[in-house]
Amino acid sequence: MNQIIIFRTIADMRKQVGIWKSKNLSVGLVPTMGGLHEGHIALVEFAKKKCDRVITTIFVNPTQFGADEDLAIYPRSEESDCQVIAGAGGAAVFIPSILEMYPEGFLTTVCVSGLTDKLCGASRPGHFDGVTQVVTKLLNQANADVAFFGEKDWQQLTIIRRLAVDLNIPTSIKGVPTVRDVFGLALSSRNGYLDFKQIEKARLLSSVLSKAAYDIASGSDASFECAKVVKTLLGYGFDRIDYIECRNAHSLELIERADIAECRIFAAVYLGNIRLIDNYSIL
Ligand code: AMP
Repeated sequence: MNQIIIFRTIADMRKQVGIWKSKNLSVGLVPTMGGLHEGHIALVEFAKKKCDRVITTIFVNPTQFGADEDLAIYPRSEESDCQVIAGAGGAAVFIPSILEMYPEGFLTTVCVSGLTDKLCGASRPGHFDGVTQVVTKLLNQANADVAFFGEKDWQQLTIIRRLAVDLNIPTSIKGVPTVRDVFGLALSSRNGYLDFKQIEKARLLSSVLSKAAYDIASGSDASFECAKVVKTLLGYGFDRIDYIECRNAHSLELIERADIAECRIFAAVYLGNIRLIDNYSIL
């Protein structure tokens, strides 16, 4: 296994990136909040195929959690995360403290209007402002050639693509396909909160959603199919449905028929108080 470098400060990371770049080595960035699973590892492996050196960041960003959300209990496993990253070919890990990221006097926010007020943004007010704030900082801090984000969080990926273009950030943004378990469940740090019975139910989400995506692609009305998905999932014992919606994959505007632009079906659902999200392309 390769030796991994751990940066705790922005200065140390920048110094090393400067050294790599002076040797013409390309640098990839994989931002995470830790608690790594196969989905994160796929990002590191994907990045390693595209870039000479890969930095994974581990920072549980407090500004993207609402007051009633799971910040305090969010999984933290720094040591094993570093081992897993080394095993996946990562060169370095950036693990800043909260003060390193938000020193006293910090005041700046980054707001991507329009894309952030729908889907997860509607039910998690302020969440994406926290995401855009921390991701803008990480992109500026690392000065990587490419940054990699999962398609599982499609809205997040879309927002980050927009902010990188709008703010002239010279790092290109690359999406990586969702990693699922053998039953189709999208891997997530939050799956660890589910008990066995809930996991079995959670696994039904992907098949219901992908079937609806297929039917919409075949000409069925999006709103009809979305309403059907809601009914089916409630029938399977999901406790609450936040949204099931079909939207344009880039503008995130609602669509009724899938015959014009690239679109996706998006889901956010609850099992107990655990919120799960997923999305599928409508082809
Ligand atoms: P998180 O640690 O949950 O903030 O996620 C860090 C990165 O990993 C984000 O870009 C996520 O979209 C990505 N990610 C999380 N789960 C998966 C998955 N199952 N497949 C692919 N990427 C994922």
